[in-house]
Amino acid sequence: TSGAGRCQLSKIGASRHPPPARLRVAVRLWPFVDSTAGTSNPPCVWSMDSFSLEIANWRNHRRLKYQFDAFCGERSAQQDIYTGQHLLEGQNASVLAYGPTGAGKTHTMLGSPEQPGVIPQALMDLLQLTREEGTEGATRLNQCSSCSHAVLLIQRERLVPFRQQEGKLYLTDLAGSEDNRRTGNKGLRLKESGAINTSLFVLGKVVDALNQGLPRSKLTRLLQDSLGGSAHSILIANITPERRFYLDTVSVLNFAARSKEMINRPFTNESLQPPVLAPVRLSQKELLGPPEAK
Ligand code: ADP
Ligand code: MG
Repeated sequence: TSGAGRCQLSKIGASRHPPPARLRVAVRLWPFVDSTAGTSNPPCVWSMDSFSLEIANWRNHRRLKYQFDAFCGERSAQQDIYTGQHLLEGQNASVLAYGPTGAGKTHTMLGSPEQPGVIPQALMDLLQLTREEGTEGATRLNQCSSCSHAVLLIQRERLVPFRQQEGKLYLTDLAGSEDNRRTGNKGLRLKESGAINTSLFVLGKVVDALNQGLPRSKLTRLLQDSLGGSAHSILIANITPERRFYLDTVSVLNFAARSKEMINRPFTNESLQPPVLAPVRLSQKELLGPPEAK
């Protein structure tokens, strides 16, 4: 069951000029820690291979199998998650982490100094690229927090002969607002939010708004390139094998499975650079143009 230590995410970003790109969906499983150190609390999710996992089906005591573009098992390292895909060669790219609170979204995106996540690895790659390409291109960083969702947007312009390319990289940690809700809400609201994974709920709302042309929230506008838009997008669903997360895990997996149908249309965002013209001296007559008709 431990064959899924290393995941296949790096394959995902390999092709540079793909046709309309399906949203790529990866699932990352948090390592199982048995705090009771016994068999009374066994995990409810099992790694199968680099693409699939199984989860307990409590209705019939059998297992349900799910398959994704990549499955990062319990032993996957931070470097296995990150791919420097399409890194801003004039195309948009996006990595979104979602899942229940405590399942490892921030660990995946930000990580720690010892185990840097997607964001620091992407920034390191960008600095390296900028160094290699000299100083022409420009890189802008915008960090935007909408509720507790953190979106880091890196925009990069680069000059290639006669053209200017502009690419955006969205790095999103859908932190979810469960925490706020749990602490700030009481009674019915708390009950409502109890079983709903909020980041999932919010993501669903964003997708609905985009599909149905509903009014767009700030978050929806931020995510529109990533979901059904122009970016090469990877959704990383973070789950844990613990039983107390079982319901969240099932809804995350079902949402992840449905998300595989979302289609994005990446293109190279390029504009022609006007050729540098030699200054032209115009006579006063030419400057003034033809005499106005009376
Ligand atoms: P989330 O952002 O989804 O609420 P966190 O990323 O904050 O969850 O994870 C909760 C805790 O579990 C953190 O202390 C984090 O370092 C740890 N953790 C999460 N995923 C992993 C993992 N794959 N390997 C090791 N530790 C992890
Ligand atoms: Mg978090």
